[in-house]
Amino acid sequence: MGADTRFGPARWGRLAVALVSTAPSRRHGDLLAGPEELRALLLAHGEPGPVEVDERDLADARAARRALAAVFAARGDQEQVAALLNDLLARTARPRLTGHGEVPLHLHVDAPGSSWGGWLAASGAMALALLVAEHGVEVLAQCEAEGCAHAVLRIGPGPARRYCDAACASRTRVAAYRATRKASPG
Ligand SMILES: [Zn+2]
Repeated sequence: MGADTRFGPARWGRLAVALVSTAPSRRHGDLLAGPEELRALLLAHGEPGPVEVDERDLADARAARRALAAVFAARGDQEQVAALLNDLLARTARPRLTGHGEVPLHLHVDAPGSSWGGWLAASGAMALALLVAEHGVEVLAQCEAEGCAHAVLRIGPGPARRYCDAACASRTRVAAYRATRKASPG
């Protein structure tokens, strides 16, 4: 993996979804309760280690989670989505091209000196803004499985995605099957 793996909207979007999905729900508790969990999230999404995370990074990451979750929650109202994303971009993003050493030119999206949380806010807001501009607010979704509140991005070919993962899809299928059996015994 190259030194520029932090940079690119596809990865920023996956990280935004993963960050929002750490919020406590009926499915699980808070998955971003400590710095170690933030560090694991970053490493799981291709951040080359070592990654050092402190309490400021964690506090900013939790603020970024709230802000990005609000964007997903507002998905039925495109003016509200735009207002929230524009505000988040204005507060956190300062896109600029950079090349250093052997690394080719790439886009840094956060302001210099940002914490990991500041970077998550800026890159997440930029990714969602690009996706909404390309696909419309319908790209923003929430898992439809009972009790799951994970964020979902409806991108890629095929029918619109309804579930965050295979576990939620199969759990829902089984529940629907059981409901059908109950409704028509015999
Ligand atoms: Zn789910």
